[in-house]
This record gives sequence, structure tokens and C-alpha cells, in this order.
Amino acid sequence: MTPDERRVALDAIAAEVRTCTNCRLSAGRTKAVPGEGHPDTEVVFVGEGPGFNEDRQGRPFVGRAGDLLVRMLGTLGWRREEVFITNIVKCRPPDNRDPEPDEVAACLPYLHRQLEILDPALVVTLGRHSMGRFMPGARIGQVHGTTASADPATGARQALVYALYHPAAALRSTEVERQSFDDVAGIPAALLEARRRRAEQPPAVIPANSSAPAATAPASPGAPAGAAPASPTVATPAATFPDLPGAIRSDDPGPSLDPMTLF
Ligand code: URA
Ligand code: SF4
Repeated sequence: MTPDERRVALDAIAAEVRTCTNCRLSAGRTKAVPGEGHPDTEVVFVGEGPGFNEDRQGRPFVGRAGDLLVRMLGTLGWRREEVFITNIVKCRPPDNRDPEPDEVAACLPYLHRQLEILDPALVVTLGRHSMGRFMPGARIGQVHGTTASADPATGARQALVYALYHPAAALRSTEVERQSFDDVAGIPAALLEARRRRAEQPPAVIPANSSAPAATAPASPGAPAGAAPASPTVATPAATFPDLPGAIRSDDPGPSLDPMTLF
């Protein structure tokens, strides 16, 4: 998909979300909050659900938690426009209560479709509810700052998941805030690892009866472990992904991204 095709497809989902009445949260919302960001980003942030300010504006993470998230991105040299930011549920639960399981189930197809279109290398979960969708059974106190493979059933075909505390939790505790900034500093390494994995497992399907060597065949007997396969049918990682950890794919580096500030 080209960036333009992604943009069109994401806009179509956003339009559906804005008029959605598939669960009871539609009754109490001012505006639904589909999510927003760069259509060609490699990094998607997933929060829990809109709060007061998000419900008013129809945009994710625009209140105090959003300000903190933007500051955290800033430590990586990233702007919010360079990633994609969305939530598990797209409408504000009354009094900011946790979304009910049936509300989450009703809304998840939108997130699934967004992830299918974006095909991110890295999904960053914000808080334990979002983490729970991507790292079932995990505990936020144990997995924050760590990666896991995303289940393709989430819509993210070939992604790593990286768990952060929710920025609202960081606003309530200086210790969680300090830990969150530490965890954010691990995002570039997680993205590089995600790219490395994707480059190792190119999505191209080689026909079973092809005479070309299989992508997973060793380069030669006795080749060092981890040596690149010799097959010319596989795009070299460098052609697919640059070795610079900006948030946007190589074919559109974005207006003012300076990946060299990351390290
Ligand atoms: N908290 C969230 O989880 N999502 C938002 O969009 C804003 C605050
Ligand atoms: Fe539709 Fe999701 Fe809003 Fe429920 S929360 S009404 S499923 S967009």
C-alpha cells in the first residue's frame, strides 16, 4: 500500500467510527476519537479510551496525559504527527470508567483494521488495558519496558509490542514518571529489533516448486550462525529498512525528522 492508499483507508475507518453506534458508549460521547497520525509510520501507540478533552475535540491524547506523551516522544526527537496514536475504545466511557468487555469487543475491529492498514513494526501499548490486548496475562509492573511478539490476530501482521505505563499513571506518581521516561528511551532499540525481525522474515512468498533457494536456507555449509541467506530473491534488509531509527518508513522520511538525534 502506498502512503496515499493508507491515508484513504484510514480516513474511511475514521468516518465509520465517527458515526458508529455499535455499543452503548456512543450514547454518552460528544465526539468519537478514531485516532490520528502519519499513514506511513512504523510505530503505533495504543491507549485505553478517550477522556474528557479527547471527547470534546475528537482527537486522542490532547489533555494532560497527551502533553506528557508528547514530551516523551520529544525525548526521542519524534513529533506526534510522525507516529499513529489511537485507543482500544474510540468513545469516552462515562466518568472515565474502564470500558466493559462487550464495549471493547464491539470496538476492537476498528483497531484491528487500523493495524492491518498501518502494518506497524512496533506497537507501543499505553497502560495495562491496552497491554492486556497485546500481551494477554502479563502484568504491567513486570513487562513495562519489554517487548513481545504481536499476535497477528491483533491485525499487526509482523510487529513487536512494547509496553509502557499509561501517561496518566505517570502524572500521578513521580516514580512511575521516572520509570516511563526510562522505558521510552528503550523504544528506538525495540524498533530496530522489530525491523531486524521483519527483514529476516520477508513477507514475500516463494512458490513451493520454485527452483530458487529457500529464503531460510543457510548461505553455505558451515556459514556462521545468523549469516544472511545468499538467495537473490530476497530483498536485502537495507533496501527495505534504513538503519536509522526514525518512526517513518524509508520511502517517506517526513518533513523534519532527524533520526540522528535518537542516539
Ligand atoms: N487516555 C487514553 O487512554 N487515551 C486518550 O486518548 C487520552 C487519554
Ligand atoms: Fe462504536 Fe467503538 Fe464508539 Fe462503541 S466505542 S460506539 S464500538 S466507535
